[in-house]
Amino acid sequence: MNIVIFGPPGAGKGTQSKFIVKKFNLYQLSTGDLLRNEIKNKTKLGSKISSIINSGELVSDEIVGNLIEKFVSNDSYKNQIIFDGYPRTIIQAKNLDNLLNKYKQKIDIVIKLSVSLETIKKRISERQVQEKRTDDNDEIAIKRFKTYEKSSKPVMDYYIQSNLLKVINGEAEISEINSEISGLIDAIKG
Ligand code: AMP
Repeated sequence: MNIVIFGPPGAGKGTQSKFIVKKFNLYQLSTGDLLRNEIKNKTKLGSKISSIINSGELVSDEIVGNLIEKFVSNDSYKNQIIFDGYPRTIIQAKNLDNLLNKYKQKIDIVIKLSVSLETIKKRISERQVQEKRTDDNDEIAIKRFKTYEKSSKPVMDYYIQSNLLKVINGEAEISEINSEISGLIDAIKG
């Protein structure tokens, strides 16, 4: 089964993905983590994208598309991927369908964590203390939220049309969200 976990920055996508990975024996593919690794390892791509990430904008569809193909094409991850932070644009959503199709796979469910801007600001300032991400401060958090609001609607509509979207209240307790997600996944596993 392949899962997309969707939601604004600070919605808890990473936390929930880690939980699902353990419980259902899947692999987390976080485009944010892959991009941060490029920066950390000082690669050519890393130097190209660091200012984009630190401004709260999205990197190009082409760059993230190339990063995820490495995963999707690898047989060890076949039908066992949680896409965390991908797709974020309608082009990425369509590219993902084409890519999965190419490797005889599909998305089984899209889980959206719904969270208010107030909660996001609070969570991001807490995360800033713990993780020290260079794009986690109030100003960039708001920018990232606005970027999300601009690009996410067509992606949501796309998944509503394909009947894959399930929305969860991301403001609830972590354990409550865990069990809601488990219920959804159990239901599609049958
Ligand atoms: P995240 O860790 O998912 O919050 O991502 C951190 C940053 O990486 C985002 O603010 C974007 O600049 C970039 N990024 C991550 N995933 C994507 C994506 N699917 N498309 C474009 N940019 C992305």
